[in-house]
Amino acid sequence: MTEEIRVRFAPSPTGYLHIGGARTAIYNWLFARQHGGKLILRIEDTDAERSTEEMIKGILDGLEWLGIDWDEGPYYQSQFIAEHQEAARQLLASGHAYKCFCSKEELEAKRELARTRKEDYRYDGTCRKLSPEEIAEREAAGQPYVIRMKVPEGDGAVTFTDAVYGEISKRYRDIEDFVIVRANGQPLYLLSNVVDDARDRISHVIRGQDGLGNTPKQILLYNALGKKLPVFAHMSLTLDPKRAKISKRTHGELVAVHFYREHGFLPWALVNFLVLLGWSNPDSKEIFTYEELLEAFSFDGMNRANSIFNVNKNDPKFITDPKAINMNAHYIRTMPLEELEPYVRAELEKAGLWRDEFAGERREWFLRTVDLIRARYHLLTDFATLGRPYFSDEVEIEIEAKARKKNLDKFPGLREWLPELADRLEKLAEFTPERVEAEMRAFAAEVEVKPGVIINGVRTLITGQLAGPGLFEIVETLGRDLVTARLRRPF
Ligand code: GLU
Repeated sequence: MTEEIRVRFAPSPTGYLHIGGARTAIYNWLFARQHGGKLILRIEDTDAERSTEEMIKGILDGLEWLGIDWDEGPYYQSQFIAEHQEAARQLLASGHAYKCFCSKEELEAKRELARTRKEDYRYDGTCRKLSPEEIAEREAAGQPYVIRMKVPEGDGAVTFTDAVYGEISKRYRDIEDFVIVRANGQPLYLLSNVVDDARDRISHVIRGQDGLGNTPKQILLYNALGKKLPVFAHMSLTLDPKRAKISKRTHGELVAVHFYREHGFLPWALVNFLVLLGWSNPDSKEIFTYEELLEAFSFDGMNRANSIFNVNKNDPKFITDPKAINMNAHYIRTMPLEELEPYVRAELEKAGLWRDEFAGERREWFLRTVDLIRARYHLLTDFATLGRPYFSDEVEIEIEAKARKKNLDKFPGLREWLPELADRLEKLAEFTPERVEAEMRAFAAEVEVKPGVIINGVRTLITGQLAGPGLFEIVETLGRDLVTARLRRPF
């Protein structure tokens, strides 16, 4: 019987789902789905000070928005503290751990000595040598103690094969007798994490490379507790352009999943982008459907080198990595219109531009217009900002300064010509792109300017913009009434 694949996403609730966490969740999710396994969601909330319900909600909302579903949980690590303590008692009983009574002051003095000698400090194992009588005596005297792992002595090493980083070996002598339970009885994270993973029968631990350093210690814990080792697969980290780890503390909102949601990202575009931060495939393919990712994803393609996420908090115009924006633009441009429709609707609703007829008698017009304008859009929010002239029937649409300068101010004659052109368009028997174009060209010839002067002037006065789709398609979309009304407005 093949072993059941069980993976987990185990965020500490530090405020919200950030994109590094999202990437970890995505890899776990893909791996689970690929193998018909289970994804367990576990909130590692034992650091009670930092954990609030709101922070947990931020994580759950982020996952839901991305479309990452889990099969079990959320479990909360804090519910299992008694189990973690029980594991520590077991380790004491089996001789794999010991009570350490060294005081803070004693340890600090030893640390200081190592500093002056320019040596690495490692706990020297003083209490490892205590006799049972000495231990009993100190306990009877009410001396506080921590519990430490008894790391094997001698020339041996902990050796394991990481699915991404390959064989890793750490000598016993380089691992200190690490604390597993604090003096106040609180288990340390390293222990809790192992106990929880063992209880949840996690088969593969897929997590950030920053966990790699802890893995040898955790392996000692698994072995001492008699638990089966999972496969470890560490993912390279995502760094900012200055090579600092991306984090809430340094980058604030810019690395929060909800930031992308609010700024007009499609969830799948963000998933696709994040998957490529740290994973690649032999064909260098970049755009993936869910099914294609399930097919292609594997640990082999995971890069050992850290990836750069081009977040630039100093530039307010630059909301995020241009690659992420281009990925989003790709999906906006190419996804089935009916799938894009609800997202555009939501943006227009937020901006007060939505009208029910866009889903009713004008739905066909609405979809055609979305299709016409989306080719140049990068963010969903563009539908409400750049798309405003198309969805609003205001006549006094705002004119971009650049467009005004280039297409209107340079040709003062337009002040007379454009209202005249409006009269002509009003009288056209048929208001089709072909007829409008012929009329505009004829009009330009009459007033003796190049057709471009009229065409660009019209574009700017009816959309307020310098660039966009073909003018005659715009004219058709806006319709005769709006086009003529906008052409008659003073500017
Ligand atoms: N709670 C840890 C974190 O958020 C997860 C570590 C792990 O996956 O083992 O960094």
